[in-house]
This record gives sequence, structure tokens and C-alpha cells, in this order.
Amino acid sequence: MAEQQRDQGDGRGTREGAQDVPEAWGRSALPEEARAWEALVATARRTVFEGLVVGTSGNVSVRVGDTVLVTPSGVPYDRLAPDDVTGVDLAGRQVLGTLLPTSELPMHLAVYRTTDAVAIVHTHAVHATAVSTLVPELPTIHYMAAALGGPVRVAPYATYGTDELAENMLRALADRTGCLLQNHGTITYGATLDQAYDRTAQLEWMCRLWLTASSVPGLTPALLSREQVAEVGERLRGYGQQG
Ligand SMILES: [Zn+2]
Repeated sequence: MAEQQRDQGDGRGTREGAQDVPEAWGRSALPEEARAWEALVATARRTVFEGLVVGTSGNVSVRVGDTVLVTPSGVPYDRLAPDDVTGVDLAGRQVLGTLLPTSELPMHLAVYRTTDAVAIVHTHAVHATAVSTLVPELPTIHYMAAALGGPVRVAPYATYGTDELAENMLRALADRTGCLLQNHGTITYGATLDQAYDRTAQLEWMCRLWLTASSVPGLTPALLSREQVAEVGERLRGYGQQG
């Protein structure tokens, strides 16, 4: 698919000219979009290398102005090249590239429309997804829940790619920068790709921690109170981090 896109791109004429074409889908990437795409691809590859994603089961996006760059559907991240840049506007209309954007675009757009997110990471990480099948909220096993805004909720199940799932997700994300998606996975956002990625890694780690502690026969892990988590949230904000 990546090859196909490049062939079409080569046949489209000069790249400077293409930038001025008003019609959506035909323009070429601005320099800042090209840089953001490079960072997006690096982040997407990291989700695979670090075991948060198997194959192409997750997706990553980053916002540049009113354009959302997003991983295309079904293309392995190691095959994504600079010319594969895929972008949509906030209404979901394709403005960059010819590859099909991820089918989970409605979730990404819902977050960008309603929060100050600049980057979003969505995965099917195994421990987080396991927890999503067990509880309506991740038990407060660790104070790092505060880095996601507080106890992490689980959005009720809906079919992937639907507006219903996006709505369930937005409710679970209220005052949070991450949530679990029941029988599906994780979604986190941040002011940068690195921050969104780190929040996903922290969330997966906390889920793994709770599963590990709660699987010891005859023992039940101690949990933190909401007040204890909130106190850490205050402290983190004091250090200049977003809650
Ligand atoms: Zn998914």
C-alpha cells in the first residue's frame, strides 16, 4: 500500500505546486507536518517495539493546527515512509495522503474536538485490556493514577470505529488524560507524542501491577483512597506537570 501511494504521489507533479491546490486530499505536507509525521511514525514503532501493540492493532495521531495526522489503516509501522503522511481535518475529511486513515478515527477526533490534546496513543496493550474486562475503574493500586488525572475509568464496550464508542470514551475521559476501553484497550492523550506515549506506558504498567498484586491467593492488595491520589495530583501540578 505504501508503494501504491508513492506511485500516485510521483504522478501528481511538482510538490510546491501541489501545496497550493485548494481541494482537500491533493495538497502536500507543510514542513511542520512532515516533521510531526516523522515523530508520529517513531512513536507508532515504539508502541510495537515496547510490546504495547501487536502488528497494526493500535494507532497514533498528532495535531498540527487544524490538521490531524494519523496512522493509516492496516499498514505495518516499519513500512511507513515520509511520503505516506496521512492527515484529516477536524471533521474527518482527508486532506493529506491517499492511504485510508485508521478506522478508529472517530475516537481521535472526539478527543481533539473536546480537549487541548496535541497527541493521542491508542493500544490494545494486554494487561490494560485484561483489566478492562474485570472492573469499571482501575483500582487505585498506585499513586501514578494522579498523572492521568485520577482513578482511571473503563469506557463501556461499543464496536470499534463507531460514534458510540467515541461517546463512551469521552465520558470515561472526563477530567482524565487516559482511560481503558472495555474488551478493547487503552487511549491516552498529551501535549506531545512523548507525553501521550508515556501515559499509555504508565497505564499499562499500573494495570500489570494490579493484576500481579491481586493474583496472590488469599491476599488482597491495599488500595489508595481517592484523597491520597488527589493529593499526589496537587503535588504533580506543583512540579509543573499537567494533571
Ligand atoms: Zn483499537
